[in-house]
Amino acid sequence: METPLKPCPFCSSNAVFSPVQSEPGKYDWERGRVECVMCDARTGGTLARAVAEAAWNRRPAALALPLAEIEAFVAETRDLVEKVTFDESGRLVAGQWVGGNGGLLGRETLTAADTLRRRLDIIATLIASHHQQEGQ
Ligand SMILES: [Zn+2]
Repeated sequence: METPLKPCPFCSSNAVFSPVQSEPGKYDWERGRVECVMCDARTGGTLARAVAEAAWNRRPAALALPLAEIEAFVAETRDLVEKVTFDESGRLVAGQWVGGNGGLLGRETLTAADTLRRRLDIIATLIASHHQQEGQ
């Protein structure tokens, strides 16, 4: 039976259970993590499905999140910056240099850039909301 998942605390989008791949092309639907379909926020590590779903559903809305969780979100976002760093003679993908290809970007890089853009919007919104709360 599927547990209904709460929306993402950061961007309010839907969340899904993402099973761990036990071997290439084969998934273990009882273990994995819960992640947001839009901004890639996720539960940490690989957990039993019920544990991951419960952990996700316990998360408060982003404004009530402990500062440490917001800082972790920002740190993950910084990692994405690494993934989209490139120049015309080659590019860095997940910290590894990939040889030059005339400046064309791979799908993985473009996806990371997209997620990065959305996360920066979310972070800007969080900061603005915090300022508003302080002003009241
Ligand atoms: Zn999200």
